[in-house]
Amino acid sequence: MITPQKFFEIVPQNLNMNIRSELYSVNDFTFAVAVILSAQATDKKVNEVTPELFRIAPTPNKMLELGIDGLKQHIRVISFFNNKANSIIKLAEILADGQGTDWKFPNKYHTRDELMKLPGIGQKTANVITNVLWGAPNIGVDTHVFRLAHRYGWVGAADNTPEKVEEKLRKKIPSKYHAITNHVMVLFGRYTCTALRPKCETCPLFDICNAADKKC
Ligand code: SF4
Repeated sequence: MITPQKFFEIVPQNLNMNIRSELYSVNDFTFAVAVILSAQATDKKVNEVTPELFRIAPTPNKMLELGIDGLKQHIRVISFFNNKANSIIKLAEILADGQGTDWKFPNKYHTRDELMKLPGIGQKTANVITNVLWGAPNIGVDTHVFRLAHRYGWVGAADNTPEKVEEKLRKKIPSKYHAITNHVMVLFGRYTCTALRPKCETCPLFDICNAADKKC
């Protein structure tokens, strides 16, 4: 059986832990925008549009100069682009402060609760931002984290929302691993323990895995 302890003892050694996120960004603001865009969209799809968008609009002020119609033109291949564009422009209005391209979140936003007061930033987004930018031990539950937690039996059928899974994982995963939980589970779920055809033949957990989806 794959216990959280065994998973985090074994899996990180098989990943490139130097990469903190596969979402393209050039500063704190663009990382927040990328995470907003990634809701119900793949990082790959988001990364197709963000290099050009962030070249033109790397700061809140530049995003406001681009305007909502200009922003929509850049992100129209991303799901829910209308709603996301509205949130990003509102976010830029609040954060506009004249900082340059090395834009950083002011200290007052360095907590999950403060970030969640901003437009477009829900619990999962705030968890990912605080985790990636400042190393906070917050567990962002995206599709991979949600799926693997169920596949390994760490959560039950009643844990049917990201919030419920996050609460359960906080109790089940040793706290020393919370800061890397999202990163490790996302990379492992994306490249090895994939949804449809998990790569069991090369999986470092093969010997202890009893998941129903295991390919023997
Ligand atoms: S053996 Fe297969 S199902 Fe089990 S953890 Fe590895 S990739 Fe996933």
